[in-house]
Amino acid sequence: MIIDLRDALRLDDQPGLTGDTLVPVWVVPADWSQWSARRRAFAAAGVADVRAQLRARGSDLVIRQGDRAAVLNELALALDCGVSVARPAGLDERADDRRITRLHYSDARTLYAQDDLPFDAVPEPFTAFRKRVEKALQVAPPVPAPDALPPLPAGIEPGDLPKVDPVESDPRRYRDYQGGEGAAQAVVREYFASSRAGRYKKTRNAMHGAEGSTKFSPWLAQGSLSPRRVWQAVTDYESEHGKNDSTYWIRFELLWREYFQWWTPQQGAALFGSRQLPKAMPDFERWCAGDTGVPMVDANMRELNATGYMSNRGRQNVASFLAKDLGIDWRLGAAYFETHLIDYDVASNWGNWAYVAGDGADPRDDRWFNVLLQGVRYDPKGTYVRHWCDELTLIDNQQVHWPWLAGAPQPMVHPPRWHGVING
Ligand SMILES: Cc1cc2nc3c(=O)[nH]c(=O)nc-3n(C[C@H](O)[C@H](O)[C@H](O)COP(=O)(O)OP(=O)(O)OC[C@H]3O[C@@H](n4cnc5c(N)ncnc54)[C@H](O)[C@@H]3O)c2cc1C
Repeated sequence: MIIDLRDALRLDDQPGLTGDTLVPVWVVPADWSQWSARRRAFAAAGVADVRAQLRARGSDLVIRQGDRAAVLNELALALDCGVSVARPAGLDERADDRRITRLHYSDARTLYAQDDLPFDAVPEPFTAFRKRVEKALQVAPPVPAPDALPPLPAGIEPGDLPKVDPVESDPRRYRDYQGGEGAAQAVVREYFASSRAGRYKKTRNAMHGAEGSTKFSPWLAQGSLSPRRVWQAVTDYESEHGKNDSTYWIRFELLWREYFQWWTPQQGAALFGSRQLPKAMPDFERWCAGDTGVPMVDANMRELNATGYMSNRGRQNVASFLAKDLGIDWRLGAAYFETHLIDYDVASNWGNWAYVAGDGADPRDDRWFNVLLQGVRYDPKGTYVRHWCDELTLIDNQQVHWPWLAGAPQPMVHPPRWHGVING
């Protein structure tokens, strides 16, 4: 079997690592040059790590550049075998896969297997989905990586690791993210060895610091971490320390991820709209650069630009601000995230953007985030916004989320509903 590790860069809980002939493959993605240098570096580290894991077990990773389907078809023809790929959620990925002649899908990126789902159409909204799967399904325990694997068949040249430019670590970062399965397992071990899981629900909305949420998303997105492994880690933590709201809530968030993995293919092309994105206007450029004059937006965008990560609270706010306050097509924002996020995941990104913009899996028409109120609520002393926006250093806590009242430049927009927050 050929196993294409496209976005499932791991050996732990990896279906398809069986048989006497095994050819693990990774093909440089077609849109690789559009990714930020940081996203590429994170991915390349994941590829290098999975190659090292394979070599340690007697196998190797075949790395190729070029048309992925052609590469896989050629190998499959030469070896007279099928191609196993983790079932994707994205439209382009599925279109690409349709060109692979002997394709088998595995469920390596989801908690559940497609054949086990208790419905044909994914229930909407999320709550309906969650209730159905929580009632009907169990998450299968993850399968550990095999100790040994067969060598590559003779005559197959492994190929070179992708070359990436070195990226600087921004001194303001809260943590370093190293791609790959080894790093993923260390991060999960360290997280559950601490007491953080037991207070996740209280801390998950924090923007400042590394401790608020699990920060597993970069590895889940690149597939160097199995969601079933995380689920199991929660179960193990609960057996030792007991269940509480927080341990449940980690699962709850994994179910959000799961929802979007199944919901996105159901939307098809409609979710992505016209492939021709509108031309980026100066207002959009200011949003991208974190130069809107609104600290809650600017700090989060600067964090994204500097690190490739942004908290969920931040993502909701900057997305709402773009779509609802600036009135810019949300797809431009989603595409910007796609370029920069090291945890970019087609389903989670486009699904959440559509949700926040009120264009997707959202039962509420008016999902508008009052970014000033959110700033006051989630960053009451302005610690986070000051960390990313030097120009706020001398602004006092009372005005840190509306610094224009303390002499800073006016924000790009000033929705009337902000007055209520500013005036208490
Ligand atoms: C506009 C927007 C764009 C987003 N784009 C992405 C993306 O490209 N990739 C991505 O992984 N997540 C995306 N998210 C979801 C969420 O923001 C991140 O998964 C989360 O911030 C990652 O940090 P964490 O691992 O510490 O999350 P935790 O809070 O620790 O959650 C644990 C895991 O649950 C999953 N999860 C949590 N919240 C969500 C959610 N709302 N939707 C889907 N899965 C979730 C993630 O896999 C996460 O690692 C987006 C959210 C918004 C609002």
